[in-house]
Amino acid sequence: MTLQETIDEGYTLHAACHENTCLRTRPLDLIALRDRLGPDHGTLHKDLAHKLRCSKCGSKNVGLLVSPPTWGQQVKGEKVAAADE
Ligand SMILES: [Zn+2]
Repeated sequence: MTLQETIDEGYTLHAACHENTCLRTRPLDLIALRDRLGPDHGTLHKDLAHKLRCSKCGSKNVGLLVSPPTWGQQVKGEKVAAADE
């Protein structure tokens, strides 16, 4: 799935820190990612994970959580942040 398809389908992506002492999860700004990486950029772990860094502990050990459209309503209104680079 590409970034554009992910946006169009209403999915949300969260970055999840894998450090046991941190485990911070935050929503990703898909619009900002699309603008920076292009609409055809993939949203698989291998496509995005290496571009992410935990904003709390700075770890690059960050995973991706894909939430289906129905979950998106729950995180709507949350403050979102673009990926660190
Ligand atoms: Zn972290």
